[in-house]
Amino acid sequence: MTHPNEPSASAGAAPFDPAFEAAYQAAQKSLNEGGIPIGAALARDGVVIASGHNERVQSGDPIAHGEMSALRAAGRQKSYRDTTLYTTLAPCAMCTGTIIQFKIPRVVVGEARTFDGEFDLLRSRGVEVVVLDDQRCVEMMRTFQEDNPDLWAEDIAEEPAG
Ligand SMILES: [Zn+2]
Repeated sequence: MTHPNEPSASAGAAPFDPAFEAAYQAAQKSLNEGGIPIGAALARDGVVIASGHNERVQSGDPIAHGEMSALRAAGRQKSYRDTTLYTTLAPCAMCTGTIIQFKIPRVVVGEARTFDGEFDLLRSRGVEVVVLDDQRCVEMMRTFQEDNPDLWAEDIAEEPAG
């Protein structure tokens, strides 16, 4: 018997958040296109401004991580101080740098089990980091990393294993 109001000790489905869902759906879209399944969305007051996904495969663009694609799609913003960046996976050093540069105050992350990201750097610069530990995101990335080890290594600039 499960009690819906009890916090789960292990990873589960995160509470429904339309902005996070936009990021997740972008990751799924990328996966369906044969790309890397990482999605992101920029939101203001809970309203999605834009979403995007990793486009390394689709556009041959190594800089187009999910976060970068969402920020590009959002276009010019006078200020990011009232925005939240949602991403299915912990942000890498490049995306962390952009978050810091744009002074985005809050980042909501689907999971950090399959990639550590740069939480210490984000927090050291005053960025609030929320980790949902969403099991869908964990499974999506684990499956992708197992099926595409070379492509994953390329995206995080690691030498392929073996
Ligand atoms: Zn990145």
